[in-house]
Amino acid sequence: MTAQRRLESSLTALNNPELLNRLSLDLEGESAQTILEWAATTLSPRVTFGTGFGLEGCVLIDLIARHDLAIDIFTLDTGLFFRETYQLWSDLEKRYGVVIRGVRSELSVEDQSRELGDKLWEHQSAKCCEIRKVIPLQKELKTFSGWVSAIRRDQSPTRAGAPILSYDERFDLVKVNPLVAWTKEDVWSYARKNDVPFNPLHLQGYPSIGCLPCTSEVRPGEDDRAGRWRGSNKTECGIHAAPKKQKALPVLNRQVSEGGS
Ligand code: SF4
Repeated sequence: MTAQRRLESSLTALNNPELLNRLSLDLEGESAQTILEWAATTLSPRVTFGTGFGLEGCVLIDLIARHDLAIDIFTLDTGLFFRETYQLWSDLEKRYGVVIRGVRSELSVEDQSRELGDKLWEHQSAKCCEIRKVIPLQKELKTFSGWVSAIRRDQSPTRAGAPILSYDERFDLVKVNPLVAWTKEDVWSYARKNDVPFNPLHLQGYPSIGCLPCTSEVRPGEDDRAGRWRGSNKTECGIHAAPKKQKALPVLNRQVSEGGS
C-alpha cells in the first residue's frame, strides 16, 4: 500500500473500529519506523509515548528522535525507580536532545506511607500501582488520542495477543505497539547496532525493570518478567490490560471536533 493510500484509509479507520482492525493487520510486517510514522502522521499532535525505560523503550526513543517524529514522550515516575533508571532518563535526554516528561502521582511516596501505611507495595501492590501508575496515566492520557507503548508479544502470555493498533477503551484512545512483533534478540540487536543507551542492570540479571521494591533478579531459566512482583501472582501493573473487542472511537470524533488533524 502506498503512503498516501495508507494515510487515506487510516483517517477513515480512526472512526471505524473494524477498519482499524484491518489497518492493524495491514501494518503487520511493517517496520517499527513505519508504524511510528503512521502514528506521528495520523494521530499528531495528540500522540504520546509512555516509557518505563526498558530496552524496548530506549529503542523507541532512538527511533522517534532519529526520524524526528512528532511524538511526545513521558514516563510514569513513581518516585521508586532504581538509581540507574534515573541516570538513564538523564542520559537519554542528553543523547537524543529530547524531553521525557515525568508524570507523577499527586501523592508523594512519603504521603502515601503516612496515609496508607509504610511500604504499601508489600501488602497492597494493586493499590500502590493504582495510585502511582494507573491514576496518573489516566489523567495524562486524557489529552491524547494516541498512546505508543513498547510492549512485545513474546514478553508474557498476557501480551501474546497484542495487536499493532487497537482501541483502548479504558483510556479512550488508539494504542500503538510498534515493537509488538519484535523478539528480545531483535531489540538487543537494534540497540547494539545503534549504540542505544540502556540500563546497566540489564547486564546484571534484570531483564525487566520496574520499581525498586518490586523488581528482583531473574534466575537462569526463568522468564524475563519473573523478577517483577516476585512471590505474588501479580504480573502486570494494570496499565497494559489486554485490548477488548473494538468499538466506536469517541476520542477521535472529539479530536476532529476540537480542530485536530
Ligand atoms: Fe508500587 Fe511496586 Fe507498583 Fe511500583 S511496581 S507502583 S512500588 S506496587
